[in-house]
Amino acid sequence: MKIGVLALQGAFREHIEALRKLGVEAVEVRLPEQLDGLDGLIIPGGESTAIGKLAVKYGLQEAIRRFAASGSPVYGSCAGMILLSNDVGRDQPLLDLMDVKVERNAFGRQLESFETDLAVPSLGAERFPAIFIRAPKIESVGEGVEVLAKLDDGTPVAARQGNMLVTAFHPELSNDLRFHRYFLDMVREPAMSDE
Ligand code: GLN
Repeated sequence: MKIGVLALQGAFREHIEALRKLGVEAVEVRLPEQLDGLDGLIIPGGESTAIGKLAVKYGLQEAIRRFAASGSPVYGSCAGMILLSNDVGRDQPLLDLMDVKVERNAFGRQLESFETDLAVPSLGAERFPAIFIRAPKIESVGEGVEVLAKLDDGTPVAARQGNMLVTAFHPELSNDLRFHRYFLDMVREPAMSDE
């Protein structure tokens, strides 16, 4: 199995390390042809505007859409979640691959970053140490989107739709690799396409 990590900007090295710890071959992706032969792709946290603009410039926006349309799983954390969404309430390049509406920097300035133990039933009973950094939140989800985790106030912060996975937080910055394992399971058993 070979997984690519979009390496235009942001926390791509940490995802590569997490994948390698799980014994998976992980490579940096900066050009469309580097998607060839990959079984899955991770879009890291960082600055979604910067990553989106660079993706357009290098032809990766269309290439990633084709990659996902062919059934290959894509996982976006934080800025990666923003990029996979189809609505952020403002004009910036998106991949538009998931029916979720997202609000950027949704936790305010006072709360630049925080950590919380999240209940994630799909990962088992043990709570997941979720690190949020200038994080977005999911405002609403369309039909066919499964919410995997919510904050105590009900805000969805992790979701899946077919072969797309998103988290508002950064599993690559904790030592808990269960979200990466979950994604690798999606790669091994691709979801049936929606309907
Ligand atoms: N605030 C960033 C954005 O809106 C996301 C932050 C992150 O990826 N840690 O793009």
